Amino acid sequence: MTNPLYDALFGQHAGQQTPFLHLADGGVLSHAEFLGQAAQFAHVLGEAGLVPGDRLAAQVHKSPQALALYAACVQAGVIFLPLNTGYTTGELSYFIADSGAKLVVCDGAAMEALRAVTDPLGAALMSLNGDGTGSLVQAAASKSVTYPTVARGAGDLAAFLYTSGTTGRSKGAMLSQDNLLSNARTLAAYWRFDASDVLLHALPIFHTHGLFVATNVTLVAGGSMIFLPKFDTDQMMAHLSQATAMMGVPTFYTRLLSDARLTRDLVGHMRLFVSGSAPLLADTHTEFEARTGHRILERYGMTETNMNTSNPYDGDRRAGTVGMPLPGVELKVTDRASGEAVPQGEVGLIEVRGPNVFQGYWKMPEKTAAELREDGFFITGDLGKIDADGYVHIVGRDKDLIISGGYNIYPKEIELVLDDQPGVLESAVIGVPHGDFGETVVGLIVPVAGQTPDVDGIKAAAAASLARFKHPRALIVVDELPRNTMGKVQKSLLREAHKDLFV
Ligand code: ATP
Ligand code: MG
Repeated sequence: MTNPLYDALFGQHAGQQTPFLHLADGGVLSHAEFLGQAAQFAHVLGEAGLVPGDRLAAQVHKSPQALALYAACVQAGVIFLPLNTGYTTGELSYFIADSGAKLVVCDGAAMEALRAVTDPLGAALMSLNGDGTGSLVQAAASKSVTYPTVARGAGDLAAFLYTSGTTGRSKGAMLSQDNLLSNARTLAAYWRFDASDVLLHALPIFHTHGLFVATNVTLVAGGSMIFLPKFDTDQMMAHLSQATAMMGVPTFYTRLLSDARLTRDLVGHMRLFVSGSAPLLADTHTEFEARTGHRILERYGMTETNMNTSNPYDGDRRAGTVGMPLPGVELKVTDRASGEAVPQGEVGLIEVRGPNVFQGYWKMPEKTAAELREDGFFITGDLGKIDADGYVHIVGRDKDLIISGGYNIYPKEIELVLDDQPGVLESAVIGVPHGDFGETVVGLIVPVAGQTPDVDGIKAAAAASLARFKHPRALIVVDELPRNTMGKVQKSLLREAHKDLFV
């Protein structure tokens, strides 16, 4: 009897006293202790009536127990559905009802409010608090620390992961065992992870980055993680000296850079810094190298596909690019209208195919059919190009493309010009409705702290380097850009806020 995902991630460590999680309070959890907790949870799932293929939805704070719940689901053949801790009860009711979860695990503080959601749906409800207590843990305490692993096949579903909802309502991506396992193996090999690695983990574990990329790679390789509840600069500074690698979203890097304690000495012993989930500014890349001597390795992926591309481990890690397709992943750039590949160097829709590509959107057959081609290519919704050296450049999302007077305008091109201007920290370019042109360009600018950018000067600079149809019609200085929990700029909110500027 086998369960490929469980065996490769967890089963291989059965009974091992090797360290798996180093906790903020100095405690260490071994692989054996972690797996014992997971097995106890698996017994509770069985007792609650869950059978293989059922869904378990969890909205819980990051903790070793929360991670053990993931392992328990894999061991019991239950589909794991982690939910963003930022969701309100109203938002949760959509995910719980949509997924048909049989058991919901939440923080104790949310129990009462959630009961109004789970009771009518007939779903069971248990608690797991950030400190590792709760009714789930109580129920598990008396259970055996071994569990007969449920047999599963590579094609069986292991997780439903809802997309970040940056461009619209979150969609449930159905991920098979092999979707997760193939990507974990590929990344571990590509980034040279092994049992001696200690990954500094400050990402949330309800998202593909922290759960599948960071955690699965570490588990496959047999290394350990410094498992912090969230990103906290002081904590990061305190733990970097014990880590060999770190994975983060771009805001991790800008926050680390804004602290004088980040020095070459502090991170000289580390071997790898990875960034993803949102574009890393080329400036951040350059500044990080100047300060630490490390070239951040940027990679590109999404909920539906895990990771697709990565800058090389040994070769040139190029700022502003997401590198090449990973081994086993095919990537092409196609014309929006014809679906045919565009000539090399031209911008089009990024499509990917490989064992990493998901099984479709849960209960959204039309959306699945529209985005997942019959030949296996998934239309990512991102626009990009492949340069002469084979590096992939993301230029923005298809939904953020601006069409003005019949011309396609890629926001990234204008953002790069704005970002380069004195006093500008970062920018976002959007299209807003316009009577004559259909849409026109508006730039939002965030100043460097304490500086006042010269808006007329920036307009003039943009006019000098961009064709007329790309000139921002308005430049608006804002304190910050709206971001979701993964650090992604929510352009839909900006479009909504500025939709009446020119109509
Ligand atoms: P939704 O699909 O619900 O709108 P989302 O696409 O933000 O939300 P995720 O699956 O979390 O949800 O994010 C994947 C997206 O993140 C990619 O499609 C891409 O736009 C962006 N992304 C990830 N890594 C990078 C990167 N290195 N550079 C630029 N963009 C990136
Ligand atoms: Mg998406």
